[in-house]
Amino acid sequence: MPVLDESLTPVFEEVVRRNPGEAEFHQAVREVLESLGPVVAKHPEYADAEIIRRLCEPERQIIFRVPWTDDAGRVQLNRGFRVQFNSALGPYKGGLRFHPSVYLGIVKFLGFEQIFKNALTGMPIGGAKGGSDFDPKGRSNAEVMRFCQSFMTELSRHVGEYTDVPAGDIGVGGREIGYLFGQYKRMTNRYESGVLTGKGLTWGGSQVRTEATGYGAVYFVDEMLRGAGDSFDDKRVVVSGSGNVAIYAIEKAQQLGAIVVACSDSDGYVVDEAGIDLDLLKEIKNGHRGRVNDYAEQRPGVRFVPGRSIWEVPCAIALPCATQNELDADGAAALIRGGTRIVAEGANMPTTPEAIRALREAGVLFAPGKAVNAGGVATSALEMQQNASRDSWTFEYTDERLGEIMRSIHDRCLETADTYGKPGDYVAGANIAGFTQVADAMLALGLI
Ligand code: NDP
Repeated sequence: MPVLDESLTPVFEEVVRRNPGEAEFHQAVREVLESLGPVVAKHPEYADAEIIRRLCEPERQIIFRVPWTDDAGRVQLNRGFRVQFNSALGPYKGGLRFHPSVYLGIVKFLGFEQIFKNALTGMPIGGAKGGSDFDPKGRSNAEVMRFCQSFMTELSRHVGEYTDVPAGDIGVGGREIGYLFGQYKRMTNRYESGVLTGKGLTWGGSQVRTEATGYGAVYFVDEMLRGAGDSFDDKRVVVSGSGNVAIYAIEKAQQLGAIVVACSDSDGYVVDEAGIDLDLLKEIKNGHRGRVNDYAEQRPGVRFVPGRSIWEVPCAIALPCATQNELDADGAAALIRGGTRIVAEGANMPTTPEAIRALREAGVLFAPGKAVNAGGVATSALEMQQNASRDSWTFEYTDERLGEIMRSIHDRCLETADTYGKPGDYVAGANIAGFTQVADAMLALGLI
């Protein structure tokens, strides 16, 4: 494990002590602190104001009971969370995740990452995250609606267009955002479009928001390739997951000439040597909430491989777009054996620290989620702009803005890495650029 700067070691120890049992949160904090050695050396004012310690402590953490009834009339109980991490740059902003694995440590890791990601976009948004251990899988629309209504009944006290603006994440797509917005509108008697992003196009949503995270990730990788005088053309690409981020990463990579040969879900992966048939995948996933093995059943010559790691499929570019810690040291070794040149994180923290180290030692170009997947939240901020001005932009214009933002994040990462003596290091560049922007705002706002 890389050693932390000696002034940062007690900060990390304090985080571990104050947040026991929250392994993912510790991992996310450590990954940022590992980049900050050169920053604290250059900026003693951050240490004087205890900026890093203050950043590691959320401004507010809300945990609440979510009771609801299932279709059989039985009472069900879940736990809801909203961690409002940092609002130095703007109202809290970050998604809601509905998945049985959600607990405080997951929400805090995601909220912490979100602070730096949102800063990197250059938009005026703070960092937050929320969700519930509710599992929408296998639930009827009516059950999902009753859950969302109960969840929003409490959450509504804590959100608002100038306060905190949630969006989707794993398990929270257009359907869930609709039910959540409907309940907020009913409770407040206000059509406050800016309270949630990821809304439908006919009721305040933005063009490109659905596609934004996946498209943005591919725009980022396109810049990485351009820097090496290369392109996506004819590149073999593997994308993990088959949800929102994965589907639109596949779509944009294919539009740029790549051959995406594999994708997955938590049951296993499919290999389609001819290139994923995206219309079929979208129909199965979005139309029927189906599984990737349904894809294999409906497409001749496609293999479904249950229970194994997708990273054993050889590829030039790997885009982990499913979940945290899905790419471990074994996965990294398989990618290296398969000749992978670029790994870029579409998901949040999908690569374990050991895997990152192995990839970088093998000369694989690695880019972290907080930069690569920032297109989603950036387009959410564009949705907020459109809501505030009661305007709606065309797909082409919004997509152009997304492309510009991703190029600017890419360049900022590299420029910052250069400035701090880490040329070509996207991890250091993203962490330092995001951190210094938030830290300067915190200094300016005083001890609050
Ligand atoms: P979705 O719920 O739409 O999709 C998640 C996908 O990942 C599903 O296909 C799911 O399969 C799969 N998955 C989950 N766990 C595993 C696993 N252990 N192994 C293999 N596949 C798995 O979520 P999103 O696409 O929205 O989010 C994906 C990632 O991107 C998350 O890390 C999220 O935080 C991040 N992200 C999302 C943004 C957005 O705009 N949506 C913005 C920025 C980051 P299954 O159905 O079997 O669970």
